[in-house]
Amino acid sequence: MRFEPAQAFAPEPAYILLPFRFRRLPWDSERVLLSSLSGDWMVIPADRLPPLVAGEIDPGDPLRLDLEARHFIAASADRATLAPLLSQIRTRKAYLQEGPALHIFVVSLRCHHSCAYCQVSRRPTGQSRFDMAQDASIHAVERLFEWPSPTLTIEFQGGEPLLHFDRVRSLTERIVERNRSEGRALRFVIASTLHDLTDEQLAFFAEHGFALSTSLDGPEWLHNANRPRPERDSYRRTVEGIERARRALGEDAVSALTTLTRRSLEAPEAIIDEYRKLGFPSIFLRPLSPYGFALKTKTRTGYTIEDFLTFYRRALDHLLAVNRAGYRMDEVYASLLLSQLMTPFSHGYVDLRSPTGAGLGAVVYDYDGWAYPSDEARMLAAMGDFTFRLGRVEETVDTWLRSEAMQRVLEAGVAEALPTCADCVFVPWCGADPIDHYARQGDTIGHRPTSDFCRKQMGMFDLLLEKWEVSEPQDRGILESWAFRKEPSSALQAAA
Ligand code: SF4
Repeated sequence: MRFEPAQAFAPEPAYILLPFRFRRLPWDSERVLLSSLSGDWMVIPADRLPPLVAGEIDPGDPLRLDLEARHFIAASADRATLAPLLSQIRTRKAYLQEGPALHIFVVSLRCHHSCAYCQVSRRPTGQSRFDMAQDASIHAVERLFEWPSPTLTIEFQGGEPLLHFDRVRSLTERIVERNRSEGRALRFVIASTLHDLTDEQLAFFAEHGFALSTSLDGPEWLHNANRPRPERDSYRRTVEGIERARRALGEDAVSALTTLTRRSLEAPEAIIDEYRKLGFPSIFLRPLSPYGFALKTKTRTGYTIEDFLTFYRRALDHLLAVNRAGYRMDEVYASLLLSQLMTPFSHGYVDLRSPTGAGLGAVVYDYDGWAYPSDEARMLAAMGDFTFRLGRVEETVDTWLRSEAMQRVLEAGVAEALPTCADCVFVPWCGADPIDHYARQGDTIGHRPTSDFCRKQMGMFDLLLEKWEVSEPQDRGILESWAFRKEPSSALQAAA
């Protein structure tokens, strides 16, 4: 719920009430969580809320200092008094100032896997007509440098991008060459199974400082069940690829993420232990998305958000135990949410932005020369729905930004202005995801009380806050260290 300043009804309040939102704690109905416009928060006894709103917190009350420091109240509404609040909002939304930094190049739809949860329209390995043509790639590089961001993360994706390594190479070389006059900071990422890596490819990745992102769904039985290849050897090939890449590029050059099927939900401990065994410092527990093959096989592999949250609670407990035992490993999504809660800083994760990261934080250049504001928009197009096509790579970025597709994204792209989100205590740290809501609910604004995105967000915020609040100091310290850890590798952020 939300209070606006006009609702402060004391005759002569000794302070001005700034807009804020609140929610009773689900695990303690005697206390409420408050969040301010700046994204600061605090938990107070529920019986202190009415006097706060009535302007009755005394100047000598320690709560009053706290409320003022966290921008719930102010001595006056003049510019100088509100300057720190405005500056904090600017810092939190700093991702808006520079335009999209993440640029995804889909160099081929071909893949040798047949994963039931595949989010894209993968194609058999022999069908090279699903590769990005040279003309399209040349135009895409021109578009890339029309965006203003001083940092450009270029992620190669598929299908399996290594099946069209020539295009990865030619795009990289063209971008590096073009950047001699542009002077941007470039980061290259490739999302690959890492099967069939060659020495030539590794040398090229080393030369250009590539980060590698791969999929590892857990122990051998689970990985092979989730990610079938005809030879049933996906796990072995993935682990060999990880080890090979680490030897050539360094331990930190490879990150992995797991996609959770219904079978995965039975085995949180085994999945985490597998990552520990392979020496990963991070794990990203990613639920299924409602796109592509994942939609077709939903009844076989899908599950409810409530099932996911039950799994996640178990996973979090195990992860904390692993950390207590001396092995440092965090969960990427938890770290992102905790960093939103515990630091004032902006972040690079496009799905948790308001205004939305679609088209404002990321752009996708598809193999066939069409551009999209997000990977989800591309997946919808692969399913025959072209609502979010920005335009062709032969057109300018300016044309894309004026497209009907971009207008639709922007109209529903500010969480603070969406029904339910506008009054939600979590909105300063949450995001607007109009394309996801369109895919799941049929319209970009969506209906939060029945939205899986919202249920997941609420469940995760509640779980993390409860854990942080009620746990022993050691666990609390572990969760705080996740919030302040260095940014997730660009590979994980890109894959996210
Ligand atoms: S999506 Fe849900 S959790 Fe996020 S701000 Fe909106 S109502 Fe709150």
